[in-house]
Amino acid sequence: MSAHISAPAPVSAGSAPVSAGLAARASQVIVGGVNSPVRDFGSVGGTPRFFVKGRGAWVTCADGHDYVDLVAAWGPALLGHAHPDVIAAVQQAAAQGLGFGASHPLEAELAEEITARVPHAERLRFVSTGTEATMTAIRIARAATGRPLIVKFAGHYHGHSDGLLAAAGSGLATLGLPGSAGVTPETAGQTIVLPYNDLGALEEAFASHGDQIATVITEAAACNMGVVPPAAGFTAALTELCHRHGALVISDEVLTGFRSGPAGYWGVEQAATPDLVTFGKVVGGGLPLAAVGGRASLMELLAPMGPVYQGGTLSGNPVAVAAGLATLRGADDAAYARLAAASEQVQAMVSAALTEAGVAHVVQTAGTLFSVFFGRGEVSAAGAGAGAAGEPTLGTAAPVLDYATAQAQHTDRYRAFFTAMLENGVSLPPSPFEAWFVTAAHDEAALAHIRAALPAAAAAAAAVPAL
Ligand SMILES: *Cc1c(COP(=O)(O)O)cnc(C)c1O
Repeated sequence: MSAHISAPAPVSAGSAPVSAGLAARASQVIVGGVNSPVRDFGSVGGTPRFFVKGRGAWVTCADGHDYVDLVAAWGPALLGHAHPDVIAAVQQAAAQGLGFGASHPLEAELAEEITARVPHAERLRFVSTGTEATMTAIRIARAATGRPLIVKFAGHYHGHSDGLLAAAGSGLATLGLPGSAGVTPETAGQTIVLPYNDLGALEEAFASHGDQIATVITEAAACNMGVVPPAAGFTAALTELCHRHGALVISDEVLTGFRSGPAGYWGVEQAATPDLVTFGKVVGGGLPLAAVGGRASLMELLAPMGPVYQGGTLSGNPVAVAAGLATLRGADDAAYARLAAASEQVQAMVSAALTEAGVAHVVQTAGTLFSVFFGRGEVSAAGAGAGAAGEPTLGTAAPVLDYATAQAQHTDRYRAFFTAMLENGVSLPPSPFEAWFVTAAHDEAALAHIRAALPAAAAAAAAVPAL
């Protein structure tokens, strides 16, 4: 079915005995052998690869196989792995000392860079992880409003703090868990979980609990159940509704920030301005760094200016800040143009291969971020240009608008597709509930490698019966 595509057969990366040995060893001392659940390949099967090197668009596993990487460290490798400018900045910072537990000059430089791109982040506070950023944003919102309840959307992931784990996407979606054990009913009871892109549900929640809701936290575009952008008008209506009821909007841009585009998904959508915003992933350039930002009057509720406590031994670590600063400074218009072009080309070639193989699918985007959902049924014209979620879609299956439709995807077909791509030297996210990431280093050679791997992977997906 793919015989007319005449690229050289990629070297098989299907066998990874060294990675398998490392996984066995790790599992004796690290829970499940991994330090974040999705890494164990539970939902795609096979040997989780242990990576030893990354360069540009490529990563190398412990068995010595090279893969074109479509994970990019879940986003931070925006410029490509081991970009010389980022590595130089990290080396220079590290040589001066790994941290002081005190302020240093680069912190304000990075904050200025962020504010210049995202002006509603008038004041910032750096933390080490996205989890801390959203946790802090919620604490500020509760302090500012004096209200207890928060609203989140099913399938949105905001890190692993207790109150935000209900119906979260990402790893919880991959594992099929409704929430997490170890979260008290009292804590879970302060989180209202609503279907995404459903304004009626939000209006109802405000009608019944309006004076108790401190904040609605939303991913600027949902990217942890696969990519599900907000429906046209949803972000603006959500913002208006919150403000009418005295609640704050937290836009979680930990994943989309500086990744969907230069000013995150806020800059792509240009729909409404949130009160608080969170950043992570790209902002640290691959090292542990994240941030919460927002209106000065809200942010100044934080200690030492205000009564909301927040702090961190490693917050604003100079090496991490140097990596983030070098990454953002390298992320110029030319870099975003390359990211956009590479993203569009991968989307188009994946969709073409799946269409050719008769696999129902829909590609959804949030700026340069995208993911591919495999539909349950036979192909139809439903996905092509449907745009029901605000951005155009490519494909032959119905668009995914919320967690329920994301969970209805054909995960076994993704598993077969993932495995064949990996064997042919392309590393995809090891779960159907994750976004795909390109880098500015995805050049023609990397794209050709992906193109060559696609026919076999599309055929492998087609071999799994439709549901
Ligand atoms: C990754 C992510 C987080 C959590 O960030 P960590 O650094 O993993 O704690 C929060 N929100 C969103 C939208 C994310 O994608």
